[in-house]
Amino acid sequence: MRFPLHITMDMLAHQARQAILRHRRYPYVLMLEPLYACNLACLGCTPERHTGKLADRLTLKQCLRAVDECGAPGVSLCGGEPTLYPELKELVAQTIRRRRHIYLCTNALLLDEKVFGLIPPHKRLTINVHLDGMRKTHDRVCDREGVFEKAVAMIRQAKRLGYHVMTNTTVFKETETSEVRALCELTKSLGVDGMLVAPGYHYETIQRDMFLTRAEIQKKFRRILGFSRHYRLTSTPLFLEFAAGLRDLPCSPWSTVTYTVRGWKGPCYLIAKQYTHSWKEFWEETDWEYWESRQDSRCTNCAMHSGFEASAVREIRRSPKDLVRMAAWNLLG
Ligand code: SF4
Ligand code: SF4
Repeated sequence: MRFPLHITMDMLAHQARQAILRHRRYPYVLMLEPLYACNLACLGCTPERHTGKLADRLTLKQCLRAVDECGAPGVSLCGGEPTLYPELKELVAQTIRRRRHIYLCTNALLLDEKVFGLIPPHKRLTINVHLDGMRKTHDRVCDREGVFEKAVAMIRQAKRLGYHVMTNTTVFKETETSEVRALCELTKSLGVDGMLVAPGYHYETIQRDMFLTRAEIQKKFRRILGFSRHYRLTSTPLFLEFAAGLRDLPCSPWSTVTYTVRGWKGPCYLIAKQYTHSWKEFWEETDWEYWESRQDSRCTNCAMHSGFEASAVREIRRSPKDLVRMAAWNLLG
């Protein structure tokens, strides 16, 4: 199965519970950013995410309150670099105790020092390694030589130690799709359990000309869609079809909510229109209908996984054909 059975069952149970409660909008994933410090300063990252000030971090209590309040079954631990978070071990243990599934999103540089031997493999823990290309590209995007080599070595070690490992690749303007395919081959040979491929889209505070327009996204993703079935991609075929311009979808910004050192970030992972420390205020006062419609100019080129994967999954309910395709994709992947 592409997604382990317990994750699939948890997600289905979550959706069934929300349907019984007649909730139309609800979070699937919490992006938890407990700190802004990072040991890299990648070209595509906001400066605020690698301030280097470890003191500016959420307390363990604040993190767990966010997990409880939003109720999402998936928790993506990001940052900054989450392996630098001093309370990581306890955060992972307490989140697992709450029966959530954790994606530890990391550049992998410190896995041997901060995770292996300290945080044991668990079926509810996935190590999600950021890999934006093969050696030359990845080191350029990370603005440091040797990052790719270390990340690959850490993936090998993680697999040997029994961790569930995924990779996360952002496709930028300069990314050749042949390189994405080469990366798919590499992750396959490493025995990686899943690979997320998504288009890069600029954050408000980044001005670099490395992000794709909608037309560029569609061109690249048509090619990626073409070879995707040969690999364990976790981006759903429906999402890839959307990214390739073959189907249209509304956004579901509420499906992936983001909690940071500055509070709940709204309306979405990309647009920081406002931060609030109150979950209730964030959830009830964000104009979800407006952001779903994508009428804001900042949404024009966006095909972010965090906004549209849930919309793709919702489409399944309308089409028995898509339901069968998705079931086969998960079961046979
Ligand atoms: S590793 Fe992640 S958080 Fe750190 S600079 Fe790179 S993209 Fe930003
Ligand atoms: S389309 Fe993109 S930028 Fe706009 S609300 Fe959705 S995720 Fe955010």
